[in-house]
This record gives sequence, structure tokens and C-alpha cells, in this order.
Amino acid sequence: MQHISFWKTCLLSFEKSLPPQQYNSWIKPLSVYLENDKIIFTAPNTFILKVVQDRFLQEIHIQANLFFDELPTFEFQVIESEESNKIIEPSVIKELLPTLEKKTKADNNFKIFGKLNPHLTLDNFVIGKANQLALAAATHVIEQPGTSYNPLFIYGGSGLGKTHLLQAMGNQIKLQNQQAKICYMHAEKYVSDVVRAYQTNKFDEFKQYYHSLDILLIDDIQFFAGKTKTQEEFFYAFNTLIDSHKQVVMTSDTFPKEISGIDNRLISRFSWGLTVAIELPELEMRVAILIKKAKISGYKLNEAVAFFIAKNINSNIRELEGALKRVEAYVNFHRQEISIETAKEALKDILISQSRQISIENIQKTVVDYYHIKLVDLISKKRTRNLSRPRQIAMLLARELTSMSLPEIGNAFGGKDHSTVIHACKTMINLRAIDQTIDADYKILFQTLRG
Ligand code: ADP
Ligand code: MG
Repeated sequence: MQHISFWKTCLLSFEKSLPPQQYNSWIKPLSVYLENDKIIFTAPNTFILKVVQDRFLQEIHIQANLFFDELPTFEFQVIESEESNKIIEPSVIKELLPTLEKKTKADNNFKIFGKLNPHLTLDNFVIGKANQLALAAATHVIEQPGTSYNPLFIYGGSGLGKTHLLQAMGNQIKLQNQQAKICYMHAEKYVSDVVRAYQTNKFDEFKQYYHSLDILLIDDIQFFAGKTKTQEEFFYAFNTLIDSHKQVVMTSDTFPKEISGIDNRLISRFSWGLTVAIELPELEMRVAILIKKAKISGYKLNEAVAFFIAKNINSNIRELEGALKRVEAYVNFHRQEISIETAKEALKDILISQSRQISIENIQKTVVDYYHIKLVDLISKKRTRNLSRPRQIAMLLARELTSMSLPEIGNAFGGKDHSTVIHACKTMINLRAIDQTIDADYKILFQTLRG
């Protein structure tokens, strides 16, 4: 029974230290039981389990150190159970096991359905320059599905909000029309469903399901590449739906014509309706997203901190969210407030690896753009001043912003000797001290590259 008292102590401590939302999401669903002197923690799914292990294990250890004379062994398991909010005794677990097994077996029975994620809504979707066109098109489709932009094809890089927008469209249409038969399906799942429909002799059912939909939302269509059988099936479903004015919306990581490994007749159909892009979010949008995400998590994020994070994480929204979660976890663990300092500390690794990621190509490209010269000239042997100055600046930048060696830098500039690089760096350092224009150029380039 000692483990139960121990867990109660942990619960109390977490309840005090964590915001209620975090406590309810991560700690409350956990259960403990004792087996052969081991304390087993169970979580209802791997996600919760992982979060607990990543963020809260240290605190559990601290509590255990205070509670036990001799530290017990901990183990973590996933047990899917609606009852898992409670502290479960081993006997109960044993009783539960057969049902749980049955549940897994039942899941193996192939069922056709596409589910919407209720959390991905338009309310939670921040609008900016990067996605306003896509959103306008989506809104149009939501208002009048199947009528004009059919199919709607949304493309953009990873983590930019394609899935979110696609799901939000489904949720919004559902809200307006409870009767609508809506299916959200990831293309990869569709591929495996085609296979399983064959294996389980459910192909007719499969076909019927897709052909009977009002709205088909199909995500990451590039996964159809090379899957000819799937493409063939999808071709029929697609035609049936479009012909009967049922809406099809798809996403992909590239423009239709650039998806390789997909039959041309499908590709050409993808462009029948409207194709819109989602771009990388600009700074203001990234700030707005961070503030929104914080609000959803139940706290107010200071704008300066949001700005700091947004300024430093400029890859995509998924990474931006990841960074915010790291900051949250950090301050929770250290019981501090979110501030620029704590954010800096929490994101230390990311910030370092980002500054390391400045590549020589990046430097050369930025320098030639800045001076309006050509890359071939920058790395040539030409020694006119309008080329040698930028070249020397680029070499010094490479020296300071990358971890490349002198010979490596020389190589990247058309196979020059390392002594040329040393000479260039020395010259630039001297010039910067006496020539304000050169110094200003250097600073601008340096800042541009550092972000
Ligand atoms: P993609 O499908 O393009 O790879 P996702 O839709 O999965 O990207 O988005 C990645 C994460 O970023 C998700 O958590 C999503 O909620 C969030 N996200 C993306 N775009 C926005 C946005 N405009 N506003 C708020 N959150 C967004
Ligand atoms: Mg996606």
C-alpha cells in the first residue's frame, strides 16, 4: 500500500506546482500499481506516457527520494482503459487485461471510416499573409461545398497548417450540417485501407463508402506516389464524387504538377478546381500563433517573449509550437515564470544548433544578393574590387558563422588555398576598422544571416 501513499504525495505536489490543465492532461490519467517491488506507472496512451517520462519523471524521482528510504524501481506501461483515472490494484489490472486484449483484437477487424479531430478548428487557426488565400478558398468551400472550387487543392511545406485547415473545414461543415457525410483521411491510411479492403474481401464496402461521401478530405496526397492500385481506386472515387458535386479537398507538400509517381490523368484532375498555397508564416503571424497557443493552454503569453521565440524559430508552425511546449515544460519544472531569460535557457539547444546551421551556400547567396553580383563571379578568380570585397566579406562571414575549416572555406570559393582565406579575413578586419561603409555592410550581412 506504500506505493499508493507515495502516489498520493506525488499527486498533491503536482497539483500544487502545475496549472490545472496540465495536471488534468498528464498527471490525472496516470495510475500506479505494485508488482514485485516495482512501482508500475500506467498511462492510457503512449503520448501521455512520453510526456510524463520527458517532463515529470525528474519530479517523481525527487518525491520518491523524499518518500522512500530505499528507492524503488519504476516502470512505465500503456494501458488503454476508461477506468485508468483511478489508482488501480494489480488484481483489477489482471481482470482488465482480457477485455483490453479483446479490444485490440476487435480493432484488427477492418473498419472503414475517416475521423475528424474536433480540436483542429477554424477558431484555433491564426490567419496571416501566409495562409489568407488558402483560408479564403476554404471559406468559400465551407459555405458552398461541391459547387465551385472542386477539388480544392492546398499545398505547402511540412508543419505549415495543411492538416489543421483541412480538419477545420470538416469540423465547420459538420457544424453547419450534421447530416453531411464527411471523411477525413490521411493518404497513407487510404493506401493501407485499400490493401486491407482487398485482404478482408471488403472491397465493395470500401468503394461504396467512399463513393457515398458528401465531403472527402484527403491529406498528404503525395503519399500516393508509386501506389498504382491505390491511385486507380482513388481515381474512380474522385470522379464519382466530383461528378455528383460532392466536395473533394486535398493537401500535398507540393504543387500538383510537381508530385512525382502519380498518374498524369490524376494529376491533371487535381488542378480542375482551385490550387492554393500555404506559405511560411511571417514574424507577426508567428507571434500571433504563439499567443493563441498559450491562450488555448490557459495562460497569457507576454508579447515580448512571444516575439523572442518567434524571431528565433522561423522554420514552421509545428516547430514553433514545439518550442513553446519546451518553454512551458522548462518553467514548470523549474517553477519559474515565462520570460525571455527562461525562454532563452529552455531553447538553448535549438538556438545553438540553429546558429550552427548557417551554411556556406547561405552566406554566399546572401552576399551576392546584397551586392547584386553573380555567384559564379563570387567564387571565380576575378580580382576586380567589386568582386574581391564581397568575396572577402563572405569568407570572413564563413569563418565567423560556420564551423568550417580554412581549407574547407577555400574550397567552397572555387578551390582557393587556405592562405587566401586567412589573407581575406585579415584584410576585412583591417578594412572594417577604417571604412565605415564596409563595416556597415558587414554588420548588415552578419545580422541577416544570424536572424
Ligand atoms: P501540416 O499538415 O502542414 O504539416 P499541421 O496542420 O499539422 O501542418 O500544423 C502543424 C501544427 O501547427 C499543428 O499543431 C497546427 O495546429 C499548428 N498550426 C498550423 N497552422 C496554424 C495556424 N494558422 N494557426 C494556429 N495553429 C496552426
Ligand atoms: Mg499534415
